[in-house]
Amino acid sequence: MRNVSSWSFNRWIEVNTDALVHNLQEVRSLLKGNTRIIAVLKAEAYGLGAVETARVLARHGVDYFAVSFVHEAVEMRRNGIEGSILVFSPASPVEARTALEQDLTLTVASLADYQLLSTVTSGCNRRLRIHLKLDTGLGRFGLRQPEALEVARLVQANGHLYLEGVYTHFAEAAARSPRYTFRQFTSFQKALRDMAREGIEIPIRHCCNSAAALRFPAMHLDAVRIGTLLGGQYPAGHVPTPLRLHNPYRFKARVVAVRELPPGSYLGYYRTYRTPKPVRVAVVPVGFADGLGMEAVSRPGSLLDLLKIVAKLAGSYLNFKRLALKVKLEGGDYLVRGKVFMQFCLVEFPVGFPLKVGDVVEVPVKRTLAARDVARIYLQGGTPASVEVTEKRTASVSEEVSV
Ligand SMILES: *Cc1c(COP(=O)(O)O)cnc(C)c1O
Repeated sequence: MRNVSSWSFNRWIEVNTDALVHNLQEVRSLLKGNTRIIAVLKAEAYGLGAVETARVLARHGVDYFAVSFVHEAVEMRRNGIEGSILVFSPASPVEARTALEQDLTLTVASLADYQLLSTVTSGCNRRLRIHLKLDTGLGRFGLRQPEALEVARLVQANGHLYLEGVYTHFAEAAARSPRYTFRQFTSFQKALRDMAREGIEIPIRHCCNSAAALRFPAMHLDAVRIGTLLGGQYPAGHVPTPLRLHNPYRFKARVVAVRELPPGSYLGYYRTYRTPKPVRVAVVPVGFADGLGMEAVSRPGSLLDLLKIVAKLAGSYLNFKRLALKVKLEGGDYLVRGKVFMQFCLVEFPVGFPLKVGDVVEVPVKRTLAARDVARIYLQGGTPASVEVTEKRTASVSEEVSV
């Protein structure tokens, strides 16, 4: 571990690895002994950091990981992650060669994918592991019938490819009605039966994400692909909540200035907030460039969806306590006032509150929206066990400082 501590940064992400391990054990409690976990670590493990999360999980028996892209898997291999890594997205020719070198598991989601991998691996004395991806109704990647069976035959007959798995992905496993998911599962099972009938053996058949794993134990099959639950969150929607999950993620920052302001002072651009009484204001070095106050909002899918989004915006305009941005300090919640700046925000404290420069606050930056250059500090037993810093920030950080 490098000699850097939280003092080296004015904002950082803390990842509690004990919570990760706890969540892993909770997920395991859902599964039969012969169902394995494929830990989904795409998008930097949803903000927790893919490499370190993989290390922690590997120490506790996880031997299969999944990411969306070859470059994500390569980063993990470069950092010594040895377990199997399934790549969801189809590979380009260059990526396919890399995958072969790095012993990654690639997805075949079309006849063209098969042809490409067949070309790349021909004349090579290693076998490339592949999983067939079936599209049973999500409409992203995947083979449909009867092509799925034809490609399965081709892979089976190709000595350079090893057909290790077949999978599909659900479109709405957490929707109120399970009907569409049942329909997808039924068509997945039919495809598997067709393959079995021709003697095509599939060691790892998998279809469940977090929501489906919680809701449909009969669909666990040989493996479940779990991301959200390992990170300590339940998927949004209609799922049972039998697990006691712990949140491993905290975005923290040090107060960089403390001010006393009289009543009637304005805070922030366009003066959207005026202090009604004397206050102490903390300047916190986290702004929208770090992901504070950002929401991922996609085009509303229905009228109800639209109304929900509008209601949320209205609530935040009216500064409803539940929707307002709040910073935590020693268990208390304090409101962010005025507009969030690019790299700062202002937090109101009562006058006389014992607040000083350097105090650490927890800031509500969503894990998947947090800026990529924020350092991550991994805690084990409450103390820092390792620090992950991107190149750019390492250069500007003094390594001598410690707590
Ligand atoms: C993201 C993803 C998962 C994991 O989903 P969670 O709901 O986070 O568990 C599983 N499979 C595929 C194909 C995915 O893209």
